[in-house]
Amino acid sequence: MSIQRADASRADLKSMLPAEIEAFVAELGEPSYRARQIFDWVHNKGVAEIDEMTNLSKSLRTALGEVAFVTRLRLVAQRESQTGQAVKFLFEVPTGERIESVLIVDGARRTVCISSQVGCPLDCKFCATGRMGLVRNLTPGDILDQLIQVSAYAHERGERVTNVVMMGMGEPLLNYDAVVRALYLMRQTEGVGLGGRRITVSTAGYVPGIRKLAHEELNVGLAISLNATTDAVREELMPINRRFKIDDLLEVAREFHQLRGYGVTFEYVLMDGVTDSDEDAVRLAQLTADVPCKINLIPYNELGSESDFRRPSQARLKAFYRALEGAGAEFTVRESRGRDIDAACGQLFDNQEAAVAAH
Ligand code: SF4
Repeated sequence: MSIQRADASRADLKSMLPAEIEAFVAELGEPSYRARQIFDWVHNKGVAEIDEMTNLSKSLRTALGEVAFVTRLRLVAQRESQTGQAVKFLFEVPTGERIESVLIVDGARRTVCISSQVGCPLDCKFCATGRMGLVRNLTPGDILDQLIQVSAYAHERGERVTNVVMMGMGEPLLNYDAVVRALYLMRQTEGVGLGGRRITVSTAGYVPGIRKLAHEELNVGLAISLNATTDAVREELMPINRRFKIDDLLEVAREFHQLRGYGVTFEYVLMDGVTDSDEDAVRLAQLTADVPCKINLIPYNELGSESDFRRPSQARLKAFYRALEGAGAEFTVRESRGRDIDAACGQLFDNQEAAVAAH
């Protein structure tokens, strides 16, 4: 992993692992405990300026400032859903673009949905972010800072973030190095300290990235957006299916289970007249019958009049669940939180009024 530098001449301390900060301060002639102090300032105290690291000598702060900086996103807006089940954050990254993160409240669970790219190149037809195209990749510091800032917000409310999903704007596995570095940083017990399975990476099905992720010592959960039971329909909905077919996804899901010892989750969005027939339910059960996996059904969230898709009726949803159960599959249903603030799946994109998310 190489450190990504948003500022070509200076290194982002928020993107560096503890051992890297140690090597970095050693080059400045400083002992290793300085690295621990810096890591604490960046990850636990959330400072934006090196000058705020007041237990470092003035001379060290000056020297550090010449070769390093700390990524800090600017909070542009924050909005809570009427039900209180989601809070959406609009951030500006140092290069000026805007991204979104969402805090999702579910019982005692507090999950942060994090963006990995500004926009997304994959153009899934049901996704607001896909309409933007790819603007740019986020750095590890940009990715991590979403979690640090939302965690600080939760802390102010007397709550603690328990889970992370890489399910915001962007395809995480197409910004692999930055995302994986951010995941390793989230795991550091001296910092955020979120354990492996409390983090889930959600992908549209970029198979080489899934294979690579399975070999990382991360133990993160993996969700694959399946969303169709035939290649013809999936190709219409998700152009990535031209490269990676449903069979490829099933095969890589089996590999993932063999390597990691736990299965992937297949996400399946139910869209009226597109993916919600009884035949789809039976095919979904058949496709996944010999794959160790979970199935997560998500009734579609409409994006107002711009949307080409509709949420199925309650009766159709129930019929689909019955057919899937009848075909022998186990599944869960996820009703997206925060629909009233456009903070539900497929509704994240760079719009200051409306906004939010992906897979
Ligand atoms: S669903 Fe995910 S992969 Fe597809 S366009 Fe949206 S952000 Fe990209």
